[in-house]
Amino acid sequence: MVAAEKHITQLPVMEHFYTIQGEGFYQGSAAYFIRLGGCDVGCVWCDVKDSWDASKHPLYDIEKLVSTVKETAAEMVVITGGEPLMHNLDELTGALQAAGLKTNIETSGSHPLSGSWDWICLSPKKFKAPLPGILPFANELKVIIFNKTDFAWAETYASQVSPGCKLFLQPEWDKAADMTPLIIEYIKSHPQWELSLQIHKYINVP
Ligand code: SF4
Repeated sequence: MVAAEKHITQLPVMEHFYTIQGEGFYQGSAAYFIRLGGCDVGCVWCDVKDSWDASKHPLYDIEKLVSTVKETAAEMVVITGGEPLMHNLDELTGALQAAGLKTNIETSGSHPLSGSWDWICLSPKKFKAPLPGILPFANELKVIIFNKTDFAWAETYASQVSPGCKLFLQPEWDKAADMTPLIIEYIKSHPQWELSLQIHKYINVP
């Protein structure tokens, strides 16, 4: 077994920006996004393929990242990627929380959970399954619907998360015209699910 990395002071950052969260439970809320480089999941429909190679992205000091966030009015930081759990996030989340910021993550769950989180959005991917250990900790399960068979697949994960976990179905962006009507009908007959739309893409914010 490989020991977890310790005392990480730098992480590869593809981009970071203050915007509003466009998806899921916090849709519409102001959030500072930090998109880390590195992903080995390989979703065919990935819209951030430039994130995959971590070595293409500059290393940022965690301390500097936190002070940059603090220059804004942000109260919540979303750590995304790429697959952010390819990195040990203990130091980053510790520093953000010490600065009074809420920490949210968007992850496929395919790497071991690290970090201290106020909110975990688990978005499982067929291309690399989540590790079972993360499922009980998910506050939100967000399943991307790419084709009709994904509803049954979504239910396999819904049955494994904890009872309070919020459940979202989100159309894959390029399939939205076909999948959104199916999702609406599915939610009407399975009302434990809610619709998540990528509203940032409709209102043209990052
Ligand atoms: Fe892209 Fe996210 Fe899939 Fe990685 S997990 S390939 S970043 S959509």
